[in-house]
Amino acid sequence: MATRQVALAIDIGGTKMRGALITESGDVLARDDIPTQAAKGEPAAMKRLAALLRRMNAEVPDAEPVGIGMAIAGTVDPETGLFYNPPNLPAWHDTTPSLDLGELLGLPAWVHNDASLAVLGEYVYGIGAGTKSLVMVTLGTGVGGGLVFDGHLYGGHRGYAGEIGHLVVDSAGPQCACGGRGCLEMMASGTAMARIARERLAAGEPSLVTKLVRGDLDKVSSEVLVKAEGQGDPLAGDVLRGAADYMGVGVATLRSVLDPEIIVVGGGVSRNLHIFFPRLVASAKAHAMNVDKELCPVVPTVLGDDAGLLGAAALAWQKLRG
Ligand SMILES: [Zn+2]
Repeated sequence: MATRQVALAIDIGGTKMRGALITESGDVLARDDIPTQAAKGEPAAMKRLAALLRRMNAEVPDAEPVGIGMAIAGTVDPETGLFYNPPNLPAWHDTTPSLDLGELLGLPAWVHNDASLAVLGEYVYGIGAGTKSLVMVTLGTGVGGGLVFDGHLYGGHRGYAGEIGHLVVDSAGPQCACGGRGCLEMMASGTAMARIARERLAAGEPSLVTKLVRGDLDKVSSEVLVKAEGQGDPLAGDVLRGAADYMGVGVATLRSVLDPEIIVVGGGVSRNLHIFFPRLVASAKAHAMNVDKELCPVVPTVLGDDAGLLGAAALAWQKLRG
């Protein structure tokens, strides 16, 4: 029987472990997921994951696994595979999940953190396919992102490159946990939007948001603000537009410094905001150098939740093809 080579792509989060059989051209031949059950420890999880992958492979008998790519939520050393101080998987500190899974399945394995691999996934199989360089900004609870140049994730001198959330966009802004002030994450993340709205509501500004959260300001979130804006609430609209404006400032800076072929914006918050994107692009244009105003497209992601999984496949294929 003719076989099709596949990478075993894994995406491990605090609650769910996802697996897929993915060809070099990005076709997903099988996919499934199981609960992480993180507290039971890393060895038990890798055993269950290996069993899941064997089962999936049995369902696609002509698929021949040739390597493993793993995306994982937390800080991991891509060279040694060592996983350390993961906030969502505390019991897994100082383990090597990718190597352990590779040993169980008898395959070479590579690992990187999930945020970076989501960027690589968009670059290889998503909106960035066919481009040479890409910068991605991820807007969710926080602000993150990553950089790909000439096919490879750029990690920087010490592996800390791509901390897009800590670009300073307002030097008089609020203190950030990183030690800086007015970072993009403090001005435009989902958390920041909720904080800014809460401050204005607490100061007595009238808004539909108060009714939507039944007076409990702790329940104010970017989702609630999107809902209120959809019903014409001026305060909610104002907060969302303000965040989009700051995102645009960040994007303009990235463009000036890095000159990528394409800038991609993704993440849970950006997905839901119909008013967010055009406003962000307009702000990026307004803050750009003249030479940049029309050059580099700013576009939304296309892979959504699959970006990490496809990025894990892309990593495996890059390593296998050397
Ligand atoms: Zn910061």
